[in-house]
Amino acid sequence: MRLSDKTILLAVSDAQLGKLLEKGVLQPAGYQVTRAKEPSVAKTYIRSATINTVIVESGMGKGDELQIVRDLLQISPALSIVLVLKNKNLYHKALRLGVIDCLVPPLKSDNVLDAVQRGIDRQERLVSWAKKRSRSDTDMLRQRVNVLETLSKVGRLVTASLDLDEVLKTIVDAAVEITNAEEGSLLILDEESGDLYMRAARNFQDEFVQTFRLPTTDSLAGEVIRTGKPILFDKGSVQKIKTSYLVKTLIYVPLQSRGRVIGVLGVDNRESDLPFQKQHITLVSALADYAAIAIENARLFAHTEIERQKLAEILLRIEDGVIVVDSNKRVIMVNRIVRSLFDLGSRVVELQSVDDVFEHKKLLKLINDDHETFPYRDEIELDDDRILDVQFNIIPDVGLAITMHDVTYFKELDRVKSDFVHTVSHDLRSPLTSILGYVELLDRVGPINERQQKFIQRVQRSVHLITELINDLLDLGRIESGLDGRKELISLASVVEYSVETVKGRIIEGNKKLVVDVPQDLPKIYGDVVRLRQVVDNLLVNSMRYTPRGGKIRLVAQKENKQVILRISDNGCGIPATDLPHIFDKFYRASNVAENIVGSGLGLAIVKSVVENHQGRVWVDSVEGEGSMFTIVLPIKEQD
Ligand code: ADP
Repeated sequence: MRLSDKTILLAVSDAQLGKLLEKGVLQPAGYQVTRAKEPSVAKTYIRSATINTVIVESGMGKGDELQIVRDLLQISPALSIVLVLKNKNLYHKALRLGVIDCLVPPLKSDNVLDAVQRGIDRQERLVSWAKKRSRSDTDMLRQRVNVLETLSKVGRLVTASLDLDEVLKTIVDAAVEITNAEEGSLLILDEESGDLYMRAARNFQDEFVQTFRLPTTDSLAGEVIRTGKPILFDKGSVQKIKTSYLVKTLIYVPLQSRGRVIGVLGVDNRESDLPFQKQHITLVSALADYAAIAIENARLFAHTEIERQKLAEILLRIEDGVIVVDSNKRVIMVNRIVRSLFDLGSRVVELQSVDDVFEHKKLLKLINDDHETFPYRDEIELDDDRILDVQFNIIPDVGLAITMHDVTYFKELDRVKSDFVHTVSHDLRSPLTSILGYVELLDRVGPINERQQKFIQRVQRSVHLITELINDLLDLGRIESGLDGRKELISLASVVEYSVETVKGRIIEGNKKLVVDVPQDLPKIYGDVVRLRQVVDNLLVNSMRYTPRGGKIRLVAQKENKQVILRISDNGCGIPATDLPHIFDKFYRASNVAENIVGSGLGLAIVKSVVENHQGRVWVDSVEGEGSMFTIVLPIKEQD
């Protein structure tokens, strides 16, 4: 309900009185009048319309004479009420309730108009006061909103920007703006000289900023650095910051990072006397915290960047090839060597699938296959016959690191060495056979005394050992060349049976226990029976050799998926952890082998070559002093 400000509500139940006031007094004086004969109607008007002034007849409605006054003031406490009071004894009580005037009949029109006018004037004064008040409240709120917006803008910038200069400049600007200061500066402690220098500034000349140096001893800023406490200088006198830098009011707050004060954020006034407020310290301190965070972030970033560059430089310079791929087999990085090995030139390969970057089939297969154990290594051959030793390693949260090393030279060396060994072994065989022949003939050509017989036996034993060694060397050469033997379907059970038979004598002699568990229905495998016997022989003989008297040896075979697994375990001397990686190398013998146990260190090399020749795998688990377990896995497959 919209009524003019000049509308007067007449809450009068006496019809004659109402008419008199409306027609005889108010309307002729230019007022608009709305009438309410019932208290409930009057209350509704006051609740819903912009009625400011009301003439009320006392005793209207229920309750005592003044109840209507109380009811209306409860709805609108600022209402101007002119009361037509029938009982003049209640005059003072009515005034105390808050009516602005009481008129006692007979009414005089001048008195009525005068009271109404005073009611309207009072209303206008109230309205203008309320407007002023709300304007200043709004200004204050706006200021607060501005401060909050500035702080949140700075907060966003600190987390989003890596440009420290920009961030610190924004922080100083914000400090000046929210404190209404004339100028602001951010001073940083130079650890070496112990002086403060200006890192960012507002309203200072560039030259002044660049040459600004302030000792921490004997200066206000120095005091903040030493105590870690803010300073609000507001004495009315001027304070010298530096010669020719005099301020009237000032705030300095500390910049704290990792428990140390690293600088000072300050705002000041040189001209104005306007004092800073305590709350300004809180605001500038919040900005100083942001500045400290930004400086710490920049330091960490710079540190990380240096480390990253160092790492990149190392990867670039090392002579091994390095490829890093993520878990989706997309390239994260390749180094210079890899680029040259695989002719990648300066192509952008990062984030591309390995299948789109490399063409080498074996390399791709090795990268894409799922390997059970890491690190995993293999060799690949390039088109130009170079051979690379490739190692695959899992890097948690990154993916797969592939390092490759050119081993062409070593491979060639190995080949030359093998050829040499092969030739020498071959050439040694005939003279050895004739030595053995003649030694055996000795006792047939004349009597030999007991001592001579002993010497002859020693010669025979030594020649046997050398012949064995030579045979092993020749075998190894043949197996490694891949041109060895014939493969056919054979029963592993009978291979084992044969080997067990050959070591029986040693078992009894050494008082050892051998448990064999090989199911007769073990599937046949496709292989070279002579070589596989050699494998089982070597492993069984080793178990005997490296297990002391009374030791236990177990030989177990079983089928698992499409493989036959053979395990030979013992509770002998075991193999030291440092020797384990080399134990299948040629001529390698572990460091814990007793001196009286003779051996060439070729047995396991033969085992490995034969097993790999059958597309199988062999490995050992061993604990020094507790025992060893050699495991061989051979594929069950149809004829090649
Ligand atoms: P060797 O002729 O010395 O036995 P092998 O190649 O058969 O040569 O074995 C290489 C080395 O591995 C041995 O010298 C020994 O140190 C270690 N070794 C092999 N089998 C066993 C085993 N069952 N227990 C402990 N050590 C073993």
